[in-house]
Amino acid sequence: MTKNSVEVAVIGGGAAGIAAARKLAAHHVDCLVVEARSRLGGRAYTVQHPAGFALDMGCGWLHSADCNPWVAVATSQGRVFSKATPPWGRTTMTKVMPVEEQRAFRAAMGDLFERVAQAAATGIDRPVSDLVPADSRWTGMLNAVMSYIAGAELDRMSTIDLDRYEDTELNWRLVDGYGAMIAASAGGLATAFDSPVTRIDHSGRRIRIETARGVIEADRVIVTLPTSIIGVSDDLFRPALPHKTEAALGLPLGLDDKLFIALDNAGEFEPESRVFGRTDRAGTGNYHFRPFGRPIIECYLAGRCARELETGGDAAFFDFAVSELTGLFGADFARRLTPLQLHRWGADPFARGAYSYAVPGAAEQRAVLAAPVDDRLFFAGEATSRHDFSTAHGAFITGSEAADRVIAARRKS
Ligand SMILES: Cc1cc2nc3c(=O)[nH]c(=O)nc-3n(C[C@H](O)[C@H](O)[C@H](O)COP(=O)(O)OP(=O)(O)OC[C@H]3O[C@@H](n4cnc5c(N)ncnc54)[C@H](O)[C@@H]3O)c2cc1C
Repeated sequence: MTKNSVEVAVIGGGAAGIAAARKLAAHHVDCLVVEARSRLGGRAYTVQHPAGFALDMGCGWLHSADCNPWVAVATSQGRVFSKATPPWGRTTMTKVMPVEEQRAFRAAMGDLFERVAQAAATGIDRPVSDLVPADSRWTGMLNAVMSYIAGAELDRMSTIDLDRYEDTELNWRLVDGYGAMIAASAGGLATAFDSPVTRIDHSGRRIRIETARGVIEADRVIVTLPTSIIGVSDDLFRPALPHKTEAALGLPLGLDDKLFIALDNAGEFEPESRVFGRTDRAGTGNYHFRPFGRPIIECYLAGRCARELETGGDAAFFDFAVSELTGLFGADFARRLTPLQLHRWGADPFARGAYSYAVPGAAEQRAVLAAPVDDRLFFAGEATSRHDFSTAHGAFITGSEAADRVIAARRKS
């Protein structure tokens, strides 16, 4: 039986909600995670493939591993890390993209980030696309790679926000999946599953949380919903919180989808190598061959390209990947490919996208979204993070900080 009265309700059981609830539980605070799905983890989602592989459909990389709080959690669970250098940090597949081209592209990326830093220092926010030289050979690929990083192309993206992102450039993975570890870390937390929240009514002495499975009352609430849900639900809060809706709209979720493909005779390819489908356009896939040495290709499709493919259903992704891969390796290559797994995050009703970016002019909206209301409503989730947005560790840190605020507010009252 789900409790219908609790001291603190945590809305959403993704990385942020789990981190918040773990901390509250450790401080013996009566709390309940209210989750729309029948599983925990949210955008941290590992699928076990029958071949024995764990496939991370959402987060896979423990970015900034030297200061990522999930590392300690994974270690305490006895998880096995892969510390191999990620494909984007290596020079691979030089037959397809010669070394000089790879170097030139890296230099163009480095240049762009320098321009971003200089432009951000002026305090005037502009779309990042303004900073790409008009005659750049790399405009298509810069857009493609930024769409893998942020889920959107450069014309959609705030320079100031992008400049604030922090990354120590140490990237690890978990052999059994980042999502599986995050979900397992929620063991023992009281959770109401299959309970999409439709309204958070904070007009009375206690907060009423209306869900598809009834009403739950709480003294305090931590909201960890994705901005894609907060931004489109005008009546989520009663009384309405228009500044939160506006903040969420300024921090939309970009789109990134992963398609896993089985590859016959994979041995001819170097483990952890990668190639782009095309280097002259934004709408192209990033193909990571033999992740963990497995006979598979992890295809990353993002931004407008992924949005368009989502309208065509699962088959459209495989067809697109096959057309790009046969363009690189010849028509016969198609026979070696079998689709394994895809998750369309844009079509997922409880995500509606992959991770947040700020539109030009909206960099300060992360702080607006994060600010508590009346010491009763608290906010967490990757989009509320100033420096670690779009990541699972950013979500963790914001969840943990929201729990600290709740604990401090309890002491005051
Ligand atoms: C394809 C992809 C690749 C990624 N790669 C990486 C990576 O390599 N490294 C990295 O660090 N991050 C990566 N991320 C991002 C990372 O997964 C997210 O930033 C992080 O998991 C977000 O956690 P969160 O708790 O903020 O949000 P969520 O995980 O979205 O949690 C919110 C929860 O709220 C629930 N919910 C939604 N609506 C309702 C409702 N109405 N009522 C109740 N509950 C509701 C959802 O089901 C979900 O469980 C990736 C994401 C995707 C999609």
